[in-house]
Amino acid sequence: MSAIEPLIDLQDIDSQIRDLEREEKDIPRRQAQERARLAGVNTSLSSAKEQLDALLLRIRQTEAEAADRREKVRQMKIQQASLKTNKEFQAYTMQITGIQQEIDALDARQIAAMDERPQAEARVREAQAKADADKGGVDEFCGELGERLAAVKEELAALRARRKEAAAAVPQNFLRYYERLRTKRWPAAVRLNRECVCEGCHLVQPPSVEQMVQRGGDNIVACTMCGRLLYREPGF
Ligand SMILES: [Zn+2]
Repeated sequence: MSAIEPLIDLQDIDSQIRDLEREEKDIPRRQAQERARLAGVNTSLSSAKEQLDALLLRIRQTEAEAADRREKVRQMKIQQASLKTNKEFQAYTMQITGIQQEIDALDARQIAAMDERPQAEARVREAQAKADADKGGVDEFCGELGERLAAVKEELAALRARRKEAAAAVPQNFLRYYERLRTKRWPAAVRLNRECVCEGCHLVQPPSVEQMVQRGGDNIVACTMCGRLLYREPGF
């Protein structure tokens, strides 16, 4: 068995570890994205509720203002009955007419506001339904992601244990070279193909490199350009 074989096994494990580590980092990010989206939906709901509340307040206020004025007119009419002069009587009539016009305007505003009410209520119902549906969907999705994350962590723990054994089987000089290189180049060990090209950086290697790769053994053979460990599969 050449020295490169246990190294390739180690690299396979590292490859799986890298993928899982990426997923481990990615899952909380995706969960946060989902929750942020849900927060956006909830904002639409609060905005629809605020609009409805403002409308209801307007209706109540207009109603109260109109009621105040009606009461005022009622009292003025009582006072008017006891007035002595025609002039005073006419002055009261004019004031009452003015207030009556205000009441008409308030009533018209109230009718307009009440016409808006069913639409405003429908918007709240729609926003509420969407928020409820999204919350259910997001909860479920985030739950699934959470389960996947737990599985990823378990797989990672198992792989890291396997990695220790696999690393112990690699000759020291190969292991040191590989550990240094793998943080900068990935994969760190690549095939030298039939055309004598490094499959990492695609540079054609000189015949001497091919001969060394062919021979295998305990010597590290690296690409003259990118420094990756070169190997050929048995029987290649
Ligand atoms: Zn190369």
